[in-house]
Amino acid sequence: MSQAPEKETKSPCVSLVGAGPGDPDLLTVKALRLIQSADVVVYDRLVSDEIMELIPAGATRIFAGKAALHHHMKQGDINETLVNLARSGRRVVRLKGGDPFIFGRGSEEAMYLAEHGICFEIVPGITASAGCTAYAGIPLTHRGLSTGVRIVTGHVREGEELDLDWQGLADPNTTLVVYMGLTNVARISRELIAHGLPPETPAAAVQSGTTPRQRAAASTLAELPEMLEREQFKAPSLLVIGKVVSLANTLAWKIPQSSCDMEAHG
Ligand code: SAH
Repeated sequence: MSQAPEKETKSPCVSLVGAGPGDPDLLTVKALRLIQSADVVVYDRLVSDEIMELIPAGATRIFAGKAALHHHMKQGDINETLVNLARSGRRVVRLKGGDPFIFGRGSEEAMYLAEHGICFEIVPGITASAGCTAYAGIPLTHRGLSTGVRIVTGHVREGEELDLDWQGLADPNTTLVVYMGLTNVARISRELIAHGLPPETPAAAVQSGTTPRQRAAASTLAELPEMLEREQFKAPSLLVIGKVVSLANTLAWKIPQSSCDMEAHG
C-alpha cells in the first residue's frame, strides 16, 4: 500500500482561535499549541504584541485588522482569504482577540467556511468582559450586589443610532458590560439614567486590560462620559456599569509591570 503525502490526505481546515484579552499567559493550552504549529496566521488588531511574538518566525502573518470606524480588510475578503489558504493545504490559524464568538464575527467566518466545505474548529478564548474585569478587581457577579451580567456592544454602523433595550438594561441588580462603548458613552449614560438606573451607579473603564499597558478608572454612571474624556481613554476599552465596580477599591490586585509572586507574599 502506497502512502499518500500528508497534504493530500488532510482535508483543508481552519482553526478559529481566541487569543484572549492580551496577556499571553491567558491563552488556552490549545490556542498556544495551534499558534506554535501554524503555517499562516490571519490576525486582528486586538491580538497583543506579546501574543504575536509566539507565532513561529517562519509562519506567514496576514493582518485582517478592524477598528471601529475603518475596516482594513472587508469581511468578505477575510472569508475568501481563509478559504483559499485552507485549500492551499497550509495549517491556518485565524487568531482573534478575546473569544471568537463574542463580538468577533467568528461565527460569520465559520458559516462561510461551512458553506464552502472547509472544516474548522473553534477554540474559545477569555473574552474581554472576563479578563479585563478580573485584572481590574471587578467581579461580574457578587452575592448581594449583582445577580447576573449582560454584555452588549456600543458600536453601530456610522450614521446609525445606538438602539439597545434600555429598559431591560437599566437594572440596578445586574452588571452591564459594554464592548466598543467609547464613541456612544454619552448616549449610554443618558439612556440608562433616563430609564431608571441611579446616576450614582458605579462605572468603570478598563483600557488594554491584562496587558502591561492596562489602565482603569472609575466614576459614577452620570460622570462616566466626562471621566473618559478627561482621562483620554482610547480603544480597546471596556465599560463596566454596576454596583460590583465599587469592589475594585478592595480587589484591584494587578501590580503594573510585574507578575506578582503569590508565594512570596505567603
Ligand atoms: N472578541 C473580543 C471582542 C471584540 S470587540 C472578546 O471576546 O473580547 C472589540 C472590543 O472588545 C473593544 O473595543 C473593547 O471594548 C473590548 N476589548 C477587547 N480586548 C480588550 C482589552 N484588552 N481591554 C479592554 N477592552 C478590550
